[in-house]
Amino acid sequence: MPFSAIRGQEHAVGILKRSLEGNRVAHAYLFEGIEGCGKMLTARSLAEALFCGSTEPCGSCPACRKMATKQHPDLHLLEPEKGIIKIDRIREIQKELSLRPVEAPKKVCIVNQADRMNQAAANAFLKTLEEPPGNALLILLSDTPTALLSTILSRCQRLRFNPLPLEILTELLLAQGAAAEQAQSAASLAGGSMAKGTAILQEGFLTRRREIVEQTIDLTPRDFATLTVTAERLGHEREQAQEVVEVLTLFFRDVMLHRHGSLPPVNSDLSELVERTAGGLSTGDIMERLEAIIRAGQALTRNVNPRLTLEALFMSLAMGR
Ligand SMILES: [Zn+2]
Repeated sequence: MPFSAIRGQEHAVGILKRSLEGNRVAHAYLFEGIEGCGKMLTARSLAEALFCGSTEPCGSCPACRKMATKQHPDLHLLEPEKGIIKIDRIREIQKELSLRPVEAPKKVCIVNQADRMNQAAANAFLKTLEEPPGNALLILLSDTPTALLSTILSRCQRLRFNPLPLEILTELLLAQGAAAEQAQSAASLAGGSMAKGTAILQEGFLTRRREIVEQTIDLTPRDFATLTVTAERLGHEREQAQEVVEVLTLFFRDVMLHRHGSLPPVNSDLSELVERTAGGLSTGDIMERLEAIIRAGQALTRNVNPRLTLEALFMSLAMGR
């Protein structure tokens, strides 16, 4: 993939391109940034540029074609297995990197989620960083660089990757075939991460969110008899109950913003419901609801019954209607 196709990371990409142009590529990099912001794409493009022998991968030479099909013999990927990178995998990689490159000028090793190395693995990897076998290029990726040994940090050139801006994330989700409103909503919930945006769309999160909102915003005291059933259905498990609380927090935040006419809404696909709710509640009513939701969220972090917590929350939402 050419560098020009990487979105939202002009700063990091610019530094890498200038290093390639000046033939000053470091022997080890640490790409720091949240999951799903383009670190892996950029690492692969850097490897591709080195294999292609140009500052912008051409996309058509044999090396670039092998990179496109993930079959280049000189690119090595090290990733956590069941959440951990163990020393055995480090030893294997060290062995592979000590062999001569098959066809490229040098081998490249990308370490995804490098902070998942356990103590033994990290110490062994440090030796690889101090003396990269066969002049290999090492690219470490991490969303929590503070979890890495300081001796590893100090041996890497560190590059910061930013969370993707909302407009870029929306565009990328649209390009993946999402409908406009869904793309916008998923992007605003994804916190700058393409991985999260895609997951939100795939997991039917938006549908569940609509269900939560529809079943709770119009509750009145007349519904008290059935609140247990609603609470049971929406939040039987703690995680589900927490999701209900998050969804309602963002929803009533939008209701408040709508009343006061500022900032784009998070729930753009629910704008009709936001408008209707804002029309029927005073600022004080909205604040009361937000406070009840926040209290429920705090209760869920303690060891209280999730269903009972939701039931109490729904009662508060139903009051004064
Ligand atoms: Zn090429």
